[in-house]
Amino acid sequence: MKSTTAITEEPKQVCDLCGSARYLVFATRGRGGSKLTTVICEDCGLVYTNPRPTERENSKFYHTSYWGAYKNQSMPDERFFQRRLPKIRPILAQLRPYLKPGVRVLEIGCSVGALLWSMKEVVGSTGQFIGIEPHEGHAQFAREKKGLEVHNGLLEEVSHKLKPASFDLVVMNHVLEHTISPTATLVTVKKLLKPHGHYVVEVPNVEAPGSRLSHFFHVAHHYSFSPRTLQRLAQKSGFAAKRVDSLDGDLPGTRLNAVFEKPTAAETGVTTRFIRDDANERAAALRRYERWYWLTAASFRKKITHWQRQRM
Ligand SMILES: [Zn+2]
Repeated sequence: MKSTTAITEEPKQVCDLCGSARYLVFATRGRGGSKLTTVICEDCGLVYTNPRPTERENSKFYHTSYWGAYKNQSMPDERFFQRRLPKIRPILAQLRPYLKPGVRVLEIGCSVGALLWSMKEVVGSTGQFIGIEPHEGHAQFAREKKGLEVHNGLLEEVSHKLKPASFDLVVMNHVLEHTISPTATLVTVKKLLKPHGHYVVEVPNVEAPGSRLSHFFHVAHHYSFSPRTLQRLAQKSGFAAKRVDSLDGDLPGTRLNAVFEKPTAAETGVTTRFIRDDANERAAALRRYERWYWLTAASFRKKITHWQRQRM
């Protein structure tokens, strides 16, 4: 993979997490050899794509292209839905303690509704399960075939239709890394949650990419979080971080999973003391991971997993 480390004086965009304009350029190519510049913030260590698309470009991409161009699933069917079920099982198991009678749940980026539908199966008719999905075909499948309430659009386009402070639980499963501004997303999520409501978020873990870096950096992933940068995002947005864990996925630690709680108005106080994720250490750790990935049997095991999944 072609990668360089240099400090640039003319930033294209500032860091969404800390507002800094200083960054290291870590890589200039992404998945499939695409031209994609990945940088590491010199001040907080956030790994992000720079430049990233505008909100309008991002909206167009998710409304029309994402599932078609990148997942080859622009017209979902029952088989696609069934294939999603084993994938959402780990997060469903984690969410079970929150799935009490009468619970009100929002899933942002629900695709065909496999997780929403499964949560509904657990709780039954007393619960309310609402989804947001930008792809019209996927949203339509969830609505028409699975009887789910799904709003078609990005969070920022449809959040006004949802009642503030009305959800017990908001879930984003491998979606936050696709947003243009994670900070803006968390602020909206916090607005939608009831006091003491929970936000469960899972993203790829930049501490354990689980693949070659040239595959990990993806045009649709604008951010790559570490436990520290994700925790800092929660603190910045006024959440209490109950838990931030690296969980095993295809390979050890690849799932970065967190539970944040919305404090009551009296408890709210945005923390300003953060643990910094050092940019140079992050760059060195990424290179170490890439060497480990090639030197161990990890890459081979991953190929087997992919092959097994495709046969399911
Ligand atoms: Zn930063």
